[in-house]
Amino acid sequence: MTHSPEMLQIVEAIRARRRFVLSSHARPDGDSIGSQLAMAYALRALGKEVRLVNKDRAPAMLQPFPGVSTIEIADTVRDTFDAAVIMECSDLARTGVAGLDRSFVINIDHHPGNTEYGQINWFDSSAAACGEMVFDVVKALGVPMSVEIATHVYVAILTDTGSFHYSNITPRTFAIAQQCLEAGVAPVAVSRQVWDSNSMGRLKLFGAVLSKMQIDSTGRIAILYLDHAMAREAGGTYEDVEGLINQPLTVKEIQAVIFFKQSEGDEYRVSMRSKGNIDIGSVAKQFGGGGHKNAAGCTVVGAVGTLQRTFVDKMTRAIDEHVPEVIAAPRASV
Ligand code: 5GP
Ligand code: MN
Repeated sequence: MTHSPEMLQIVEAIRARRRFVLSSHARPDGDSIGSQLAMAYALRALGKEVRLVNKDRAPAMLQPFPGVSTIEIADTVRDTFDAAVIMECSDLARTGVAGLDRSFVINIDHHPGNTEYGQINWFDSSAAACGEMVFDVVKALGVPMSVEIATHVYVAILTDTGSFHYSNITPRTFAIAQQCLEAGVAPVAVSRQVWDSNSMGRLKLFGAVLSKMQIDSTGRIAILYLDHAMAREAGGTYEDVEGLINQPLTVKEIQAVIFFKQSEGDEYRVSMRSKGNIDIGSVAKQFGGGGHKNAAGCTVVGAVGTLQRTFVDKMTRAIDEHVPEVIAAPRASV
């Protein structure tokens, strides 16, 4: 395949530098952690000095993966490095870590709306996961695909595609997954660890939130709600609801989900998911947030009843405007 000029610039910049800090977004997920660790192992294989700094700890299910425990948790970096490699962040503030901009910033990301905050910006919204892009960098650097690197790339792809469910999956996604398996990734063990290592509190909290689910008048939008009292009663935490938002989408008629999570008082974190061509990234953007076509979020303040009506209204419009996708249609040529 042909490499983009930005990717080649990144390879050159990495070769020429020695001390790196690697960061990714706050409230990390499988793609941010996978991208970051795959890059860390590759840079260390080249003899580089690497520090990993994130705002928040990786979720529990990712803790056992190689190197995750070496990530430092901080909201500022005081040192200056030869380069800061920022992955999976549409803008530098998404890291939640101050001081990264004192270093030469390399921005590698697949989120639409990336603000090009780096000295080098490689942005590819066609990548199913940022981990796909990191895989390309690792290969172009000539680093052998170790089982650690391959496992992190695989975790990035597995989680960001929801186990190969979501849009943006291309033949390349499977080609990379194939190479990861050839490098020694154990797909069953990885999936068990990522998807089947929940706590009982999580299961009970899923039950509590789903039993209060509301459906819009057309039967296409599911509305979920969580506050601190509900979490306490179920014996779960806010971290435990990771992935819960996807459950209503397993119902055939449900086209989109809106999940309101109380932060404090009348401030809410809003997460949204949709199927097919329904673009909710643009809905999130209207409220100062962002994301992808099928997964987006924002933070809003207001009375929850009013907020719910506003979001259902915007979402209804997004559903009515979309062009339905079809099964087994030929791929558009790219
Ligand atoms: P989640 O619902 O999992 O928090 O977020 C889904 C997606 O939306 C993520 O890929 C994330 O990049 C994006 N997203 C969520 N919240 C925000 C936000 O406040 N601002 C921006 N720019 N993107 C967000
Ligand atoms: Mn991602």
